[in-house]
Amino acid sequence: MALEKGGLWRNWVGNQYCVSQFKAAPSSEADLVALVAEADRRDLPMRVAGSGHSFTPVVGTNGVLLTLENLRGLEHVDRARRQVTVAAGTRINEVGKALKELGLSLINQGDIDSQAVAGAFTTGTHGTGLRLGNLASSVAGMRIVLASGEVLDIDGRDQDLLHAAQVSIGTLGIISSMTLNVVDAYNLHEKLWRDDFDTCMERHDELAANHRHFGFFWCPVPESRHLYCLPDTTAVSSTSKIADVCEMKVLDITDAAPMQTEFEKIAYSSEVYPIEYVPNFVELEYAVPLEHGKDAVRAVRDLMLTKHTNCIYPIEYRFTAGDPAWMSPFHHQDSITLSVSGGPGIDYWAYLRDTDAILRRYNSRPHWGKMHFLDTDDVTQLYPRANDFRELRRRLDPKGRFLNDHLRLLLG
Ligand SMILES: Cc1cc2nc3c(=O)[nH]c(=O)nc-3n(C[C@H](O)[C@H](O)[C@H](O)COP(=O)(O)OP(=O)(O)OC[C@H]3O[C@@H](n4cnc5c(N)ncnc54)[C@H](O)[C@@H]3O)c2cc1C
Repeated sequence: MALEKGGLWRNWVGNQYCVSQFKAAPSSEADLVALVAEADRRDLPMRVAGSGHSFTPVVGTNGVLLTLENLRGLEHVDRARRQVTVAAGTRINEVGKALKELGLSLINQGDIDSQAVAGAFTTGTHGTGLRLGNLASSVAGMRIVLASGEVLDIDGRDQDLLHAAQVSIGTLGIISSMTLNVVDAYNLHEKLWRDDFDTCMERHDELAANHRHFGFFWCPVPESRHLYCLPDTTAVSSTSKIADVCEMKVLDITDAAPMQTEFEKIAYSSEVYPIEYVPNFVELEYAVPLEHGKDAVRAVRDLMLTKHTNCIYPIEYRFTAGDPAWMSPFHHQDSITLSVSGGPGIDYWAYLRDTDAILRRYNSRPHWGKMHFLDTDDVTQLYPRANDFRELRRRLDPKGRFLNDHLRLLLG
């Protein structure tokens, strides 16, 4: 498979771009092997773009940029083990549709479903649920085309290797397929309502413990919810306030038949999880140890109400269980995730830096796909297996073929 002339690539929101010398859209693992050999022959760096939904410079390269849009679909179903193997470029919504036909479901999902499986799962993407891990924790195996051209077939037999690869941000090689643990199909019952911030904090533990999924958006001003296209829950509000309120959401598994009202919905799992966003914000999100969640959200709320009053995108607050992946933001740490966003036309850097300073007090770890300020030493300090990961990465990719400047700083 030949390389084509490259060009401009930009991410979904438009805050990251690169100009690559070459590009290619392989349609098989054999194509990937040939392309890696060609990059090696020309001594060019190589990266893969998923759907470009990361806000950080995790994709860009001036060498060869691959898209796996021709490497999509279900490759294998193992009903007995509740596992499916999908090509790495398959979009999460395509996985959802295929699983529905098979009477199966993903264990959990995030706020959108347009990402490529390899892109989303290997940055540690998560949904919400006190007892539910991030998406990577459901990865049972994967095939990676290494810099040497060999294909590394990872399964559960080498747990260390699996836990290294689950969250690896494309630095070990090009993933051609992933095997995912799934569950029997389930319907979800979604309920939305609005409450004031203090009530939300009082009910925080109980709501998280008693629902499969609980999360909320805190909105400093009434306009906030429009910025994230949140539904208008004033009609089901238990507060008379229109600002400084939380838009709350719970989801639970149910056998009840599909139904949809403005504020409640019952449908097949994958049809309930995603919500709508328009590309107009730059998001920072950190995983905060669960026990510090309420303090952290109070502190960031104070920051927004006192110092950065022009930053009015909602705070999003969710829950994720700890997992063993070496570079997972939730590595052996049950967490809440707290995200804030800067909007267009605003110099939001001081706001993001102040939020970072607050969240770092709690040893929080950032989402690899969302804005953060970590350097080499921060990664070493926050991730007990960081040096093991770097050593493995150097062994599998000694020339750093799959790095760019951003990833070299963090994981080189
Ligand atoms: C509107 C919006 C909503 C979001 N909602 C959530 C959410 O609810 N929860 C959450 O946790 N995150 C969320 N995110 C973040 C998003 O899920 C992650 O940034 C995710 O990594 C994006 O997936 P992608 O397919 O776009 O990957 P990209 O951003 O294109 O790539 C991510 C990384 O994966 C690498 N990669 C991609 N494919 C391969 C491959 N085949 N082999 C090796 N490396 C590969 C890329 O090189 C890059 O390093 C959201 C982002 C946006 C913009």
